[in-house]
This record gives sequence, C-alpha cells and structure tokens, in this order.
Amino acid sequence: MGNVLLTGDRPSGQLHLGHYVGSLKNRVQLQDSGEYECFVLIADVQALTDNFEAPQHVRDNVYEVALDYLAVGIDPARTTVSIQSLMPALSELTVYYLNLVTLARLERNPTVKAEIAQKAFKGGVPAGFVCYPVSQAADITFCKANVVPVGIDQLPMIEQTREVVRSFNGIYGEVLVEPEALIPADEKSQRLPGITGNDTKMSKSLGNGIYLADDRDTLWAKVRQMYTDPGHLRVSDPGSVEGNTVFTYLDVFDTDAAQVDGLKEHYRRGGLGDVKVKEHLFEVLDVELAPIRERRAEFAKDKAAVLTMLREGTDRANEVAAATLREVRAAMRIDYFG
Ligand code: ATP
Ligand code: MG
Repeated sequence: MGNVLLTGDRPSGQLHLGHYVGSLKNRVQLQDSGEYECFVLIADVQALTDNFEAPQHVRDNVYEVALDYLAVGIDPARTTVSIQSLMPALSELTVYYLNLVTLARLERNPTVKAEIAQKAFKGGVPAGFVCYPVSQAADITFCKANVVPVGIDQLPMIEQTREVVRSFNGIYGEVLVEPEALIPADEKSQRLPGITGNDTKMSKSLGNGIYLADDRDTLWAKVRQMYTDPGHLRVSDPGSVEGNTVFTYLDVFDTDAAQVDGLKEHYRRGGLGDVKVKEHLFEVLDVELAPIRERRAEFAKDKAAVLTMLREGTDRANEVAAATLREVRAAMRIDYFG
C-alpha cells in the first residue's frame, strides 16, 4: 500500500497563518517529496454545519481557499483538490459510518465541545454540527489516506476516524485504512494563537487572524494590535515574554533563534519597547508573506483556471471515492446487483 495524504479546510474564510504553519507547510513539503498521493478537500459541507444561513459566504470562500492553496505551492498537477459537496460518495459513507458512532461519543469530542461553547448556536446545536467528525471520517477514508497533516485541534477528529475505521473493518472486513495525524514538530505551530492573545487559537470564525492575502498595511495594522504584556507600560519597564503573543510568533516565524533570544533577554530586562519588537515581527512576517501574496494575486487574474482546477480535481477525487464506495458496499452486503 502506497502513502496517501488527505487533508482539508473549511471554506468559512480565507486561510491564515495558523493554517500555514499548522498544516499547509507540511502538506506542500510532502507533496514536493513525491512520495505521497495527495488529496486536499475544500470542506464546504462541513462549513455549512455552522454557516448554513450564510451560503454565499461559503461559496465565495471555496474560491478564496483555492487561491490560498495555489499561493502556498499546492500544485494541481501533484495534488487533487476537490469540493466536498460535489462528492456524493462522501455523504453516502457518512450515513453508513453514523451507525458506528454513538451520540454520547460524539458529544464527548473535546474540540466539538469547545466549538459548541464558543459558537453559542442560537437555535440549539445543529445535528449536522455534532456529527461533523463522522463526515470527516468519510473525507479521510474515501481515498484510504494514511497521513493527515493537521493542527492539534484536529487530533480528536483523527481519533474518531480511527475508531470508525476499526469498527467498520471489525464488522465488515478489512477495507478501510486507519490514518495517522501529522502535526507540526514545533509545539507553537500546532496551535498558533490569534492576534488577541495566546489563549485563543487563530481561527477564521473568530476574526483574530492574519490572512495569507492581507496586504502590507493590513499586516502592520494587525501586528500593531497584537497582544503583548499588559504590565509592560513604559519602555523601561521589565516585560514578560511568556504569554506574549509577539514573542510566540517570533518563536514560530523568525529563523534567527539567537536574535530572538537576544530580544527576549532585552525585553525581560527592560528598555525594549513593544513597537520595536512589533516592527521586527512585521518585517519577519512580511518576508514570509510577500511572495505568497504576489503569487495569490497572479493566480487571481485567471478565475476560470482556478475553477477548472477545482472541477478536474473533483472529477478525479470522485473516481477514487467511487472505487472505495464499491468496496464498502460489497463489504456491507448492499451491493445487490453487483
Ligand atoms: P473555523 O474557525 O471556521 O473552524 P479554522 O481557522 O479553525 O476555521 P479549519 O478550516 O477548521 O480552520 O482548519 C483547517 C486546518 O488548519 C486544520 O488542520 C486545523 O487544525 C488547522 N488550523 C486551523 N487553525 C490553526 C491554528 N491556529 N494553528 C495551527 N493549525 C490550525
Ligand atoms: Mg476549525
């Protein structure tokens, strides 16, 4: 069995730095290694579970996320990019898998629990939302992925998928593959905080993100707003680097670790102002983001080509999914006419 990579993103907004360090970098690296068959899914069905009243928002962001992919180096010649809602096999697999999961187990999923608390759904929690880990199991298994590059918030989802796979294979026979999560080696990249502080994950739905598409002015405006040490009032005051988002970002993005150590030492001692550190972080981020931004603008000039990539990727993914579905149906004894 070869190596198969699958991962995805919800088109609930454009992609941000959290996606970049949490998952995009790993997937581009594995794509470029040539050792993986690669699939990336734009999870619009999942985005609709908490954006069902905002269909145009989800639709617009399918295109935006596709542009972000191209901008960071996902290459449609080597990675199959598909749209979840245009893959009927995923809905069918989800329905079969729903029997292999209890409601109690779904309600215990810590990420789903945290998201429910954060979203405070007005009319109660949609059943589709509680069940989205099951639809994710369908996403991961349609191509028999064994590697899933994700941020740490996704570990409970991968665990649920593994349970579904074990249950399915135990009852119906060895058809599905148990996936492994691939999370970034560096702890701070596993869950990059938003600009408002280290306690909260950078998230499209929270409006605390630095987006890959942000221009220089927007980038600076966001870096300027970033949470630092609230006790660091005067430049001369000693400051704390722990829990200080600007230093968290420098740990992740500044490749010159010795220089970061020097800045930390100076900040702790006093005499280094927040604006100075922020100016440095801004330059570090801009070096990383400027080429991505430029490539994104280039790809945005030809929307038809982006849509063609999505259509062709979806066709290809559907072929792979149909083959898995045939095996699943046979194993479940519902292949009535062969
Ligand atoms: P939403 O708020 O709509 O859920 P999101 O920002 O959480 O959006 P997703 O589309 O849910 O983004 O996540 C896509 C991938 O990016 C997942 O693998 C997830 O783990 C990873 N990811 C998202 N946010 C971060 C982050 N702040 N740090 C590291 N990885 C992240
Ligand atoms: Mg999310």
